[in-house]
Amino acid sequence: MRRTKILATLGPSSDSPRIIEGLIKVGVDVVRLNFSHGEPEDHIRRARTVRRIAARLGRYVGVLGDLQGPKIRVERFREGRVQLRNGQRFTLDSSLGRRAGNADRVGVTYAPLAGDVSPGDTLVLDDGRIVLEVLEVEGTAVHTRVAVGGVLSDNKGINLRGGGLSAPAITDKDRRDIELAAQIGVDFLAVSFPRRADDLHLARSLLREAARKATGDGAAGGEASIVAKVERAEALELIDEIVEASDAIMVARGDLGVEIGDAELPAVQKELISRAREANRAVITATQMMESMIDNPIPTRAEVFDVANAVMDGTDAVMLSAESAAGHYPVQAVRAMAEICEKAEQHPRARRSKHRIDQQFESLDEAVAMATMYTANHLDVKAIAALTESGRTPMWMSRISSGIPIYALSSHERTRARLTMYRGVYPVAYDSTRLTNSSEANRTAVEILAGQAIVDEGDLVVITKGDVVGAGSHTNSMKIVRVGDWLSPNSEAGGEAE
Ligand code: PEP
Repeated sequence: MRRTKILATLGPSSDSPRIIEGLIKVGVDVVRLNFSHGEPEDHIRRARTVRRIAARLGRYVGVLGDLQGPKIRVERFREGRVQLRNGQRFTLDSSLGRRAGNADRVGVTYAPLAGDVSPGDTLVLDDGRIVLEVLEVEGTAVHTRVAVGGVLSDNKGINLRGGGLSAPAITDKDRRDIELAAQIGVDFLAVSFPRRADDLHLARSLLREAARKATGDGAAGGEASIVAKVERAEALELIDEIVEASDAIMVARGDLGVEIGDAELPAVQKELISRAREANRAVITATQMMESMIDNPIPTRAEVFDVANAVMDGTDAVMLSAESAAGHYPVQAVRAMAEICEKAEQHPRARRSKHRIDQQFESLDEAVAMATMYTANHLDVKAIAALTESGRTPMWMSRISSGIPIYALSSHERTRARLTMYRGVYPVAYDSTRLTNSSEANRTAVEILAGQAIVDEGDLVVITKGDVVGAGSHTNSMKIVRVGDWLSPNSEAGGEAE
């Protein structure tokens, strides 16, 4: 069973219910609605289709809304595109008209650009394909020399090498998209280009407020996990506070690579994955993982290694962007990714963990989660059953690398949806509302797992739960049971550790 989660971006190539069903069947765990493209109705329709099909297939698929953020772009060209030659002069000017671009100059969507750059700075366009050196700033015009030329077309992105653009993380469009996210009831909200913790706090409070307006109580959609996309050079300097303020981070290799240079990326990716896991946060590795599959039915060997290395580094999830949104082989890309993840997870490196080995635990439920994983990894345990309200305990468990599946049994749909992002955690529906005591809760949990052929007579299962199941108490106990002994109605046998 694959532990690493797969995120697939939806777009024109994956719009039809038939393709969405294909994606879910071959293993998508979370879909990404990219608010940089498409109309609100597209996103609403896609989220509905995903949820309807997932429910029919008995699968949990999370929905992530990804804000565009202050992505700075060139405006449009009269002819749609121009050829820039090495050494020529080229001007970016925010006061030029929206379609006034030509081979000498083009407008930009970001008025303060001229105030943010100085002579000697390097501007990188179109994901690194074109490089401009700033020569001079004159009013709203930034005069540059083309260091790496090529074809530049409408609306291509602009980054400042080394970072330093002052644009705020949450734009007016993002505020409107946060309302859309609340209306959809997303499970995850990704914030693009955050520079500091306050950007994430702001997104969280805007989402809560929007959910309150949309639903009256703020619960639906307002509780979504906040994902910080790490894609600005300066975010790396404040990475601890950014990780702390978010529920998950995304190694957004596209923009980050352009800002810091691609050669820096592999080391930064490894560092970000380990920082996130250490801080008990989830981590997504994103962008160009299977890029060649936009046009080809099989990945390159380098792509196979890229996905496998991210898995061995401990990423929770790997993400597809254009491969599933605009490529020719969306279902094949997910299938290939799933296969690579599963194989990479077999490597001993992906099953070793020193998580928190030298540290104090922060709470009782975290201590129980850690004790459970230590037990499961050192005993022949078939499965872990975490009876959970908030999802915190299985989330902590998943920070420890392991080959033992963590079944998160929860009566809350939102909790189950949020757990789709965590490595090795499988959400299971569990009605805790009518359970009256602990033994009944344990027995029901084992029966559910046995009913789904996950465990069999004689298997060991570790169960964690709080005192009064369903009443919101935090997990404070762990119990080891042997299936069969435990299933007989009068038996209270089993390794007691409560
Ligand atoms: C990235 O830059 O790598 C990224 C994931 O962001 P986006 O796809 O929104 O540009």
